[in-house]
Amino acid sequence: MKSIQINETIQVKDCYDVIVAGGGVAGVAAAVSARRNGCRTLLLEKTNLLGGLATIGLVNLFVPMCNGHGKQIIFGMAEELLRLSAKHSYHTIPEEWIDGEPQKPTNVRYTQRFCPQIFAVELTKWVLDAGVDLLFDCICSQPVMEGKHCRGIITESKSGREFYEAGMIIDATGDADIIHRAGVPTIEGDNFFTYYTFGVPLATCRKASATGFISDIYKRYGPGHVNLYGKGQPKDIPLFKGTSVEEVTRYVTTFQKLLLDMIEYDIPYEREIVTMPTMPQLRTTRRIDGDYTLKAEDAYRHFDDSVGAICDFERRDYLYEIPYRSMTRIGFDNLVTVGRCVAGEGYAWDVLRVIPPAILTGEVAGIASALALERCSSLPEVMISELQKRILQAGIMLHFDDNLVPD
Ligand SMILES: Cc1cc2nc3c(=O)[nH]c(=O)nc-3n(C[C@H](O)[C@H](O)[C@H](O)COP(=O)(O)OP(=O)(O)OC[C@H]3O[C@@H](n4cnc5c(N)ncnc54)[C@H](O)[C@@H]3O)c2cc1C
Repeated sequence: MKSIQINETIQVKDCYDVIVAGGGVAGVAAAVSARRNGCRTLLLEKTNLLGGLATIGLVNLFVPMCNGHGKQIIFGMAEELLRLSAKHSYHTIPEEWIDGEPQKPTNVRYTQRFCPQIFAVELTKWVLDAGVDLLFDCICSQPVMEGKHCRGIITESKSGREFYEAGMIIDATGDADIIHRAGVPTIEGDNFFTYYTFGVPLATCRKASATGFISDIYKRYGPGHVNLYGKGQPKDIPLFKGTSVEEVTRYVTTFQKLLLDMIEYDIPYEREIVTMPTMPQLRTTRRIDGDYTLKAEDAYRHFDDSVGAICDFERRDYLYEIPYRSMTRIGFDNLVTVGRCVAGEGYAWDVLRVIPPAILTGEVAGIASALALERCSSLPEVMISELQKRILQAGIMLHFDDNLVPD
């Protein structure tokens, strides 16, 4: 392949304690957490809205944060953000959970659906109020490495190419783009064709009018709506990797063409108002090949380095703990990853990457980064007992209660 070599001098724009690359739910949690723990923090987001898949990807549902019998499992910023998502948007927090954990056991799960755009603007305010420096429309293009140490990030924006130096870098890109370019081993995944939009057809308008719930106005609408396990995957559409610009474009254009075909068959006066995702709804492209990979058989297992208990969004009772090692890779002293690029495989990864656990790992990475800077330690070798102490102070459940494990 032909190549060119360029030699350029890039301006060092600023120096931060912590840089967070990517402002999805995991990234905003990481940035605010680092800031609350005393770090000067910069959050870089390549689009113009925060929230990532949860907002611009139209994935507007906090999956259950409880065990399915009325016990809350996921706390901390996941709880804070669930409540924030309900502050000014329509919300669907079940009656049983509106004032917190129910007094009596219930099978109703603690979930919440929200208006993506309103949640996105709430997130901007939340991040700025916390004192995080935020740059929109700014792509983290290249980590600058000295061996396995990352000096900082080269960004691309309206201002051109600039360099931001940092003590700790949190990869919250959802695609592990930064750690991959830094040389951290990663694992690639395949994606079914699960692209969908929100439609507002007349039928749902009538329904919303009858129920009085504005959220009923939306219909999930998508020619490529395949379920989590691939049911409905069109035979003529190969799976998507999403790790090259051509693959991402194939994903987007395939969807857009099919959507147009569907719309053309509609009766004109009943045509839907469609809200499209402005980010591809790929579940996984790359994730870290971390120091530990969470597996399905780790359900009900306690880890000494647990940074938080989580629950299964589909199956009641199933409980997991997230080992800190699933976010790091020994040798890379100041890089950590969060959200959907944390190390998990099979179904365990599905449980790990959804919105509440993604926020949890973000929050933990912020705390760990602050601690590592304070103690002049590397991120993978941060003192676990101290980290866990701070996680507990943040109100997170570190280990699930064995009494909740079914016989
Ligand atoms: C089809 C689908 C349905 C889902 N359904 C649910 C559900 O119902 N409930 C649920 O809880 N979860 C669901 N999930 C999972 C969940 O939405 C995601 O796993 C979670 O939101 C991931 O958050 P994140 O912050 O890790 O990553 P992302 O949301 O991907 O955020 C990454 C952010 O980084 C930015 N970024 C990327 N690269 C760069 C760069 N180089 N420089 C600067 N910024 C960058 C992106 O623009 C984005 O804002 C679903 C996912 C999909 C795809």
